[in-house]
Amino acid sequence: MSNVHPKLIEVLIDQTPRAMAAMLVVSFAYLFIFMQFIPLSLIFTWLLFQIILAVYRLQNVKMFQKHLQNKDSLKVNKTEICFIMLNIFQAVMWGIASLLVLAYAPQPFEFVMFLVSVGIITAATLSMSSLYKAYLIFIFSLITPQILIMFYYGDEQHIALIIFITIYIPAIILLSKTMLNNRISSIQAHEALEKSNEKFRQLSITDTLTNIYNRRYFFEIAKNIMLIASREQKSTAFLMLDVDYFKRINDNFGHQAGDFVLVEMVKSIKETMRSSDLFARVGGEEFAILLNNTSLVQAKVIAEKIRIMIENKEFIYNDMSIKTTISIGISEVDKDNISLENVYKIADTKLYKAKENGRNRVCS
Ligand code: GH3
Ligand code: MG
Ligand code: MG
Repeated sequence: MSNVHPKLIEVLIDQTPRAMAAMLVVSFAYLFIFMQFIPLSLIFTWLLFQIILAVYRLQNVKMFQKHLQNKDSLKVNKTEICFIMLNIFQAVMWGIASLLVLAYAPQPFEFVMFLVSVGIITAATLSMSSLYKAYLIFIFSLITPQILIMFYYGDEQHIALIIFITIYIPAIILLSKTMLNNRISSIQAHEALEKSNEKFRQLSITDTLTNIYNRRYFFEIAKNIMLIASREQKSTAFLMLDVDYFKRINDNFGHQAGDFVLVEMVKSIKETMRSSDLFARVGGEEFAILLNNTSLVQAKVIAEKIRIMIENKEFIYNDMSIKTTISIGISEVDKDNISLENVYKIADTKLYKAKENGRNRVCS
């Protein structure tokens, strides 16, 4: 079975309750028109089956919803087969309804049943065309008995209706195919839009050189993280990192070598981070790190680890070996100190102190 786009199944899920309500209205109309001809036990049994069928169809929709949510395509396909079976059963029920009319009601009531069937396949174009295969199976299994009945009578009016239906069916199949294609193109347009939105969002929050978060996004998110942490009474640490004498790297090795050092440095630091930590480039060669759920003592250990790692690292650019160091300022976010501006200012002051004290050190 082919995999139908989940969004098409969602359309079907949307339409089904309405379709079932309409189906029950028509079934009750059938009951009121024909109960004077058809034995009550037969017609009420028929109606009972229609009601059971509606319940199963709604159950089928719930299954679709559940398996779509779990992204279980195997089970979605199984539910689709179940949907087709239920629709064949539905067609058989209307076939039985026509046979009951044939057996018990006088002529020309077979025309009423023919019209009802045409009405149902027309409505199905609206409600079912997103599951195209199921739709085709349904309309043919519903209309074939009607054509046979018209052949059974075989006079002019009945043959005229057969001619009518042979023109009408290709027309509604074409219509339903057009509806399906329109739905598919609108789904594709929507997906393309979502994709480009996501791309723009990514671009707006990341630093183009190092691929980590940019300053704007860092400050936006850091505020929320700090707020949540203070509510949960967990400590958070704020680190400000600045490369020592970075200007010299540019001057001695060129600006591109400087860029290379920044990119490689970020890669190395990123490896030491946890997924819950927030790491961003907040200036030319300045970085900020928000360490979630981390005390000041733990933050000092982490900062020292980063500092030593950079001190020992050799950046090889075009066969040139570049060595550098970083200075780090730390401030702790606690219940008395949850203003981001304040925390940032403290970390920046500590960083300044680290520079003053000779660089390549951590200050807290
Ligand atoms: P300090 O130890 O006091 O921090 O010295 P420093 O040279 O690192 O500090 P300063 O702020 O004087 O210089 C920072 C330099 O970083 C200046 C600028 O040319 C360079 N820079 C800023 N952004 C970039 C960048 O994206 N790429 C490169 N290659 N250099 C950058
Ligand atoms: Mg610097
Ligand atoms: Mg700087």
